[in-house]
Amino acid sequence: MGNGDGLCAPPPPCRGNGRQGRGSAPRAPQRAHPEIFGSRRSPMCERLKFRPHHFLCSLGFEGKGYSEGFTANMSAIVGGRLRRPDGEDVKIEVVAAADDICAPCPSRRGALCVAQDRIARLDAAHARALEVAPGDVLRWGEALDRMAALPAGALNEICSGCQWLAGGMCAKALDRLKADR
Ligand code: SF4
Repeated sequence: MGNGDGLCAPPPPCRGNGRQGRGSAPRAPQRAHPEIFGSRRSPMCERLKFRPHHFLCSLGFEGKGYSEGFTANMSAIVGGRLRRPDGEDVKIEVVAAADDICAPCPSRRGALCVAQDRIARLDAAHARALEVAPGDVLRWGEALDRMAALPAGALNEICSGCQWLAGGMCAKALDRLKADR
């Protein structure tokens, strides 16, 4: 998974506190599929919805995904919002179904996934590890703190069954986060 380029110029952030975020340079945002999940405010101010395992997936995202549309959407969320200088202030609601990252996924079937059992296992393991539950709302910065507190090698257990685990980018991203915080 990776970083998308070539999108429109980013609008101003919701609030500027000068806090420096992590990761790549600011990316241009796109709205995260409002046709599916609705939209009420500026895309930069909207609260994101993440199922539990998508916190760590976002941390390790390197621009690869399941389709062109999936990758563009995830690039807009991760690069265009979370990795902006003010990205740690983005609020994220934990949900128990298809979320803003799942929206354009070719495997999504309504609020479920064609691999629902495997996805549900990933969500359960990540929810336990990060101590999050559906309905929780946390800042991306808080999520980073929780991820940084995971024990070394945690992904080998909680990400078991994910096709991206063997690539190692998620583990490397977590190691960098732990070293940085
Ligand atoms: S290995 Fe898979 S489930 Fe785990 S963080 Fe990476 S993409 Fe997400």
